[in-house]
Amino acid sequence: MNRKEFLTFSGLAGTGLVFNKAFGTPGINTFSSENKSKATITYKKIRLELYHPWTITRGTAAYKENVFVFYKKDGITGIGEAGHMTAAGQDADRTIRELKQLISLYENENPWYFDAMPDKARKILPELSPAKAALDIALMDWLGKKANMPVYQFFGVNQDRKVDTSFSIGRDTPEVMKQKVQEARPYKILKVKITGQNDKEAIEAIRSVSNKPIRVDVNEGWKDKEKAIREIEWLANQGIEFIEQPMPVGMLNETRWLRERSPVPIVADEAVNTSADVLKIAGAYDGINIKLMKSGGLLEAFRMTHLARLLNMDIMLGCMIESSVGIAAAVQLQSLARWVDLDGNLLIRNDPFTGLTFKDGYWVLSGDPGIGIKPKAQI
Ligand code: MG
Repeated sequence: MNRKEFLTFSGLAGTGLVFNKAFGTPGINTFSSENKSKATITYKKIRLELYHPWTITRGTAAYKENVFVFYKKDGITGIGEAGHMTAAGQDADRTIRELKQLISLYENENPWYFDAMPDKARKILPELSPAKAALDIALMDWLGKKANMPVYQFFGVNQDRKVDTSFSIGRDTPEVMKQKVQEARPYKILKVKITGQNDKEAIEAIRSVSNKPIRVDVNEGWKDKEKAIREIEWLANQGIEFIEQPMPVGMLNETRWLRERSPVPIVADEAVNTSADVLKIAGAYDGINIKLMKSGGLLEAFRMTHLARLLNMDIMLGCMIESSVGIAAAVQLQSLARWVDLDGNLLIRNDPFTGLTFKDGYWVLSGDPGIGIKPKAQI
């Protein structure tokens, strides 16, 4: 059948007028992918003060230094953020060095061909880097603002489904933990870390004052699978929702063994940074914890959600200590997640940005174009 025959057969011949009415005159777009002016990218290190000192491997920190990226073009500014995983050797100065390697790529490429950007950035800087996340978030914020729509809409994600976020209860004496649980009244789900010391007392302390679901993060702490399954069974009896990264990343077969026996889902965190890792760990975990600072931004995170769905794995959204820029970026994808753990901005007292609202246990975006965030004052 040639084209004319096909059109006659399908009754489409002569319907050009109808097509034009329905879809507008061909060739006219509301925005253009032309790239006449060059982008300018600047960055700034900002100290985020913590409500409670944060215990890390190398001591205790009272603040975190994050790096904010500003992508400017056509009178519009896109904002991005880099938060750091101290245990992985990341900090603001390293992020700034890495930004300097990547900025000319982002300044010179046509922003509308954003699909290719993560791969191009990875060629320049193959390693895990929050600098990549900051640039990607700033670019997506700019594109959303330029197209006059929120990023989730740009991605085609329906935001109607809200997902409650968990809130981390820092490890302390049972008395202090009970008090922290009381203070966490607005949050419907609690998260606690397993340290290998007095873990049962910590869980019992929470349970003595609250019957909210508890998520448990082991951070690769269990090395013996037989012992691990006994711990999980005890925790499951305490109303635990899931177990995050129970065993070291390298113990994939043991984790698969654990998953086959665990009464609660097993979620990967340290074992998964990008899509390539999702493929490697499929079958050994029930779900993946996607963090923009690990994936290198929204585009790769979005790709990971597709892959997880294809592999029948559940999606969790997590974060570092970030202002509402990084958190609002992740919230764009919240409807795709089974579990949301976005509490980084709740831990800081001087968030320089505004636009996210916490309501009845979950995050609500402003609905403004881009990631929907504005600086509170001139930055
Ligand atoms: Mg974790």
